[in-house]
Amino acid sequence: MICAKRVFRCFKTVERWGNKITGAAGPYFVGLAVLLIATGTFAFFDVIAPSLSFPMLSIPICLLIAVNLWAHYYYVITVRPGFIEDPSKEAPDSFLWAKKSNRRRGSLTGGVRWTNTPRITPSTMSRCNRCAKMRPERAHHCRICNRCVLKYDHHCPVRINQCVGLYNERHFVMFMMYLVVATFCFSISGYHKILQALGITFDTNRWPHYTPEVMFAMIYILTVVLCFAVGVMLAWHLWGITNGETSVEAQDHELYSNRAKARDEVFVNSYDLGRKRNLVLFFNVGDGGYPWYTLLLPLRILPYTDGRSWARREGLERHQGLRMGEELTDESEEEEYED
Ligand SMILES: [Zn+2]
Ligand SMILES: [Zn+2]
Repeated sequence: MICAKRVFRCFKTVERWGNKITGAAGPYFVGLAVLLIATGTFAFFDVIAPSLSFPMLSIPICLLIAVNLWAHYYYVITVRPGFIEDPSKEAPDSFLWAKKSNRRRGSLTGGVRWTNTPRITPSTMSRCNRCAKMRPERAHHCRICNRCVLKYDHHCPVRINQCVGLYNERHFVMFMMYLVVATFCFSISGYHKILQALGITFDTNRWPHYTPEVMFAMIYILTVVLCFAVGVMLAWHLWGITNGETSVEAQDHELYSNRAKARDEVFVNSYDLGRKRNLVLFFNVGDGGYPWYTLLLPLRILPYTDGRSWARREGLERHQGLRMGEELTDESEEEEYED
C-alpha cells in the first residue's frame, strides 16, 4: 500500500509536468492541426474533387462538409468552455448564430433556454478545494486552465488547447463528426488516386495536380488513420452523451454504481433522460430548441442551459443510490482511481 502511494505520488509529479509541457505546447499543436487540415482540404479539392461523379451535386456537398469542419474547429478553439464566474449568455443577432425554431415560448427556469417537457431543477452548489470558489454541480476544476469549468468534460491540449465544457462541447463533437465524415469521404473517393500516386495502376496520364504525389500519399495514409482514430473517439463521446454523462462523470458513475451494488442498491444517473432525449438535449435541437437542419450548418448554438440548472429524470432530485457526501471531489477522484 505504501509502495502504491509512492508510485501514485511519482505518477502525479510526472502528470503535473506533463500538464505544464502540454499546456505550453498547446498553441504549436493547434498550429500543426490547422496546417494538416488545410493541406488535406487543399489536396482533396486539387486531386480528388475534379474526378468526382455528378459534380453539380457532389462538389457542393463536399464544400458544405469542408465549411462545417473548419467552422466547428474555429468555434471549438475560440469559444470559451464556460467558466463558473461567466454570466449567462444570450445568442446575439448575427448571421453566425442559428435562430431558434420557436422564440415565442417563455423559459421555465432562469438562464435555461429549454421550454418543453424536461423537468429542470437548479444545481446544488459546492466549494472548489483548489480555487475556493462556489460552483454548480457538473463543474470541475481544470488544473491546466487553473479555473473551474461549467460541465467540464476534459482539457484537450493537442487539438484545441483549451477545456471542453458547456459552451464548446457541441462544437467539439460536431468537429469530430465532420472530421470523420471528411476523412471517410477522402479515403473512399481518393482510392484510385492513391493507387495512381504510388504507381500501382498503369496510367499514361501524368499527374496534373499541384499536390506532389508523395505528399498526396502521405496525406492519404494520415487521413485513413485519422478516420479510424477519431471515429473511435467520437463513438466514445457519443456513447457518453447518450448516457447523459461527461467523460469525468462516466468514470465517477462507474464507481458510484459499484458502491451502490455493494449495498444491494441501484445507481441511477439523474441527468439520464433516455438515450434519444439525451442526444436531443446535448445538440439542443427539436421541440423547444433549434431546428434539426442546424446540424448540417456551420452555425453557433447555445446549450439548453447556462450550467446552473439541469434537466433531470422524472422523480429524481439527485442521483439514486448515491448517499449525501459520497460525491467525489476533484482530489478524491484522483485518489479513488489509484486503488
Ligand atoms: Zn476551482
Ligand atoms: Zn482546461
